[in-house]
Amino acid sequence: MKKAIFKNFIIILILALLFSGSIFSIVISDVLLDKTKVNMLNILQIMDQSLDYDSDLGLQINELNILNDHNKARLTILDSEGNVIVDNQVSEHLNMENHLQRKEIQKALKEGYGSARRRSGTLNKSMLYVSYMSKNKDYILRIAMPFNGYVSYLVILLPSILLSLGITLILSLILANRFSSTITKPLYEISEELLKLKEDNPEFSFKPYEYSELNLIGDTTKRMADAVKQSMKKIEFERMVRQEFFTNASHELKTPITSIRGYIELLENNMATNEEMKKEFMARIKKEALNMTVLIDDILMISRLETKEVEVVITQVRICPLVTELVASLKPLAGENDVTIEMNCKPITINANHGQMKDLFSNLIVNAIKYNKPGGKVKIIVTKEGNNAIFIVEDTGVGIPDKSKQRIFERFYRVDKGRSKKMGGTGLGLSIVKHIVNYYNGTIEFDSQIGKGTKFTVRIPID
Ligand code: ADP
Repeated sequence: MKKAIFKNFIIILILALLFSGSIFSIVISDVLLDKTKVNMLNILQIMDQSLDYDSDLGLQINELNILNDHNKARLTILDSEGNVIVDNQVSEHLNMENHLQRKEIQKALKEGYGSARRRSGTLNKSMLYVSYMSKNKDYILRIAMPFNGYVSYLVILLPSILLSLGITLILSLILANRFSSTITKPLYEISEELLKLKEDNPEFSFKPYEYSELNLIGDTTKRMADAVKQSMKKIEFERMVRQEFFTNASHELKTPITSIRGYIELLENNMATNEEMKKEFMARIKKEALNMTVLIDDILMISRLETKEVEVVITQVRICPLVTELVASLKPLAGENDVTIEMNCKPITINANHGQMKDLFSNLIVNAIKYNKPGGKVKIIVTKEGNNAIFIVEDTGVGIPDKSKQRIFERFYRVDKGRSKKMGGTGLGLSIVKHIVNYYNGTIEFDSQIGKGTKFTVRIPID
């Protein structure tokens, strides 16, 4: 990468130098050309001042030092008709063609002076011509120098251009090297840090760099690693919860199975000595089997609610008829426990799954009956508050001790295991209720006083 950055940098630099060098040469050449023209014009003006047009012009021109051969300057004097009177480089000037149509002569006639660049037909060389109309306007003085266009200046400028190119290039090579290092070094360091990702608990220490984009890599990596850590923790937590759930579930199932097996063995070994005992054992087997069914139903229900894999059919559920029907079906249980149920129900319809609503009420009401006292009461209120449906199930039962208040929604948690089991509880009822409430974005809270009773309040938004 460093090499590539370096190479591209140098290519761009050389192109830029060539480009700016060319522009520079053209501009300088233009300036030099203008300067040469002015100098040539000055010579002509001085000559005009010093020439005696009445004497032999040829002789005077040859005597002029500035026109010495090494200057390679050609001087021509023409009359205003364009006829060559004198030419210091052409001896047979009288045979020369009329120069009136030459560009520089035309300009001098019109503006007093003029210049042109072209190939001289007479000398067969590229020349720069400057002409000047004499002060008496009867002669045109013309000076010409060999001129090969910009190339001639380039030859003069080339050493300095090459020198400055060389110096710039060396400086740029040093700078390019440093510049590419400022990018590649951080990248090496960052990739070194990134190797820590392999570790279980990577502690990154990215240095702050000059380029914010590079710092971004460090920041993003840290954030990514944090996010991965969080989700790993979550996955691990969920795995543990699931594991605990399966352990508890199998433990819960083992208990009825063990007692069923126990009764069967008693029966097999003819331990039931009379018909009554036999009936008793059979009834216990039946009760345990029933408990197992309830437990399995609850386990299935909770795992369905957790995995959310079943499609929930939503309909308009009228709460009062649902609760009335439920209370009627629980009358025998209430009777067994000497508990009376009161109901105060405002007609409310909510968009929900009928089965889930039934489970919600059923678990709360059954608990209110189970954990009640003989002669106790259960009060059910269904009402509306703003956009919320409110379900209250209140009892005058045993209450929940403070130390258990935090835990009653946990799966398989029971305050009094013996009492719960005796009443056919699975320890999953409130957990199921909480799941259902959450599913409808609702809340559940309770207030309980030991020995006095418990009041559960559910709020579910109605849309
Ligand atoms: P269970 O099947 O044991 O009833 P739940 O999840 O429904 O399981 O309830 C968990 C525990 O919370 C119960 O074992 C019980 O100790 C306590 N509990 C629930 N409802 C009441 C209530 N209305 N009054 C007193 N205790 C209750």
